[in-house]
Amino acid sequence: MIRPAELFYPRGAECLTCGDPLRAEADYCLCPDCRQALLALRLRDGVCSRCMHPLGRRGSCPFCSAGRLQPLAEGYGAYRYTGEAAELVKLLKYGYQDEAADALAAGMAQCFPPGRYDALTPVPLHRSRQRMRGINQARLLCQLISRRTGLPVLDTLTRSRKTRMQVRLRGSAIRQRNVQGAFSLASDVQGLRLLLVDDVRTTGATARACAQALLAGGAAEVSILTACIATERRP
Ligand SMILES: [Zn+2]
Ligand SMILES: [Zn+2]
Repeated sequence: MIRPAELFYPRGAECLTCGDPLRAEADYCLCPDCRQALLALRLRDGVCSRCMHPLGRRGSCPFCSAGRLQPLAEGYGAYRYTGEAAELVKLLKYGYQDEAADALAAGMAQCFPPGRYDALTPVPLHRSRQRMRGINQARLLCQLISRRTGLPVLDTLTRSRKTRMQVRLRGSAIRQRNVQGAFSLASDVQGLRLLLVDDVRTTGATARACAQALLAGGAAEVSILTACIATERRP
């Protein structure tokens, strides 16, 4: 007999993050324990109402007070960037792309107001990096969120010059310089309310650079939705 989990996850039907066998009732690529651990990382309480960054000790948002959201309208994130959620992002980039993306997209689809946006749009990869990886993980997330929300996916941007990987760069100013002016318009965005999609938001430099290009092209509003929000390490 074929178990339902095997129908959906034929790769041996094991939990993506711990490797335990999935039980017959699994409709998901995580075992109940790992799923619970992932849900515990949901960004809900104690987060900024505008950008969902965890609030600081005095209830202020370190992301907004550092001006990191502008020119974006709102920021949404499904999970804290640690534990199971960070593991899924790693798998999304380098391994079990579809399954990891699906687990993250399930959370992402629930964290922004339905009806507020006209389309999802992925942060683009440079052609050479996409060739190397085979997929743009942000685009894959867009497609899966689209399936759950009905929002269309538009490829509005291209990366017009190669940039260094943001994860390898420390500090907001350095990251900002790396991506400044790196994106250009690939389609008409006039009057659109766009939800930019990426895997992780740290300093927000990539999202801001994308938003600048979209707003200069006439988009009515740009917000950012990521699977995870990382808190910056203090130098
Ligand atoms: Zn597990
Ligand atoms: Zn904030």
